[in-house]
Amino acid sequence: MVNFLIFGPPGSGKGTQSVRLAEKFNLVHLSTGDMLRAEITAGTDLGKKMSSIMATGELVPDEVVIEMIAAKIDKTKDSAGFLFDGFPRTVGQTIELEKMLGERGMKIDLMLVLDVEHDELVKRLIARAELSGRPDDKDTVVVENRISVYKSKTEPIINYCREKRLYQPVNGMGTIDDIFIRLSDHMKKFV
Ligand code: ADP
Repeated sequence: MVNFLIFGPPGSGKGTQSVRLAEKFNLVHLSTGDMLRAEITAGTDLGKKMSSIMATGELVPDEVVIEMIAAKIDKTKDSAGFLFDGFPRTVGQTIELEKMLGERGMKIDLMLVLDVEHDELVKRLIARAELSGRPDDKDTVVVENRISVYKSKTEPIINYCREKRLYQPVNGMGTIDDIFIRLSDHMKKFV
């Protein structure tokens, strides 16, 4: 089992790259953003509660995503490994994930962080809004808030992982194919 985290601010290309990487390396792609949106689409009570938080660009409570991830890990524990996308998003979630993996004889093997310039992020998210129909991409105030929540709540995980020698920055500027090759080159060393 090999487990990767893919990190980066909103618009950094995590989702796009994760789908391709999961296929290439035969990993289970776990995206908490996709799971939460599936709850909203299905009209569940949880989805109803979370949609108003997501619409502002704030994070949903740690317990909610931790529970979702734990359920998925147990359902798919026979895979080659996991690619965590958009999770963990706080240091608290990271500690919980380590605990969850540890209890199952697994660990985080590498944290890949996509570095993308701020103006490029905003440009990509606005372009994506046209296609995705995601309400949190349409509003520039919400987009800026998501980037700032990333900086204040999620980026501290980088230091946490750097100390454990898990941190691998990756240039997230350029074509989708170029970025895919850069990410794959780092992951190859682990599989
Ligand atoms: P992005 O494109 O901004 O990276 P995601 O699809 O990963 O978006 O997530 C969309 C929204 O879902 C976030 O802004 C947040 O409200 C919520 N969310 C997703 N994952 C998490 C998480 N691990 N912890 C808390 N909130 C989350």
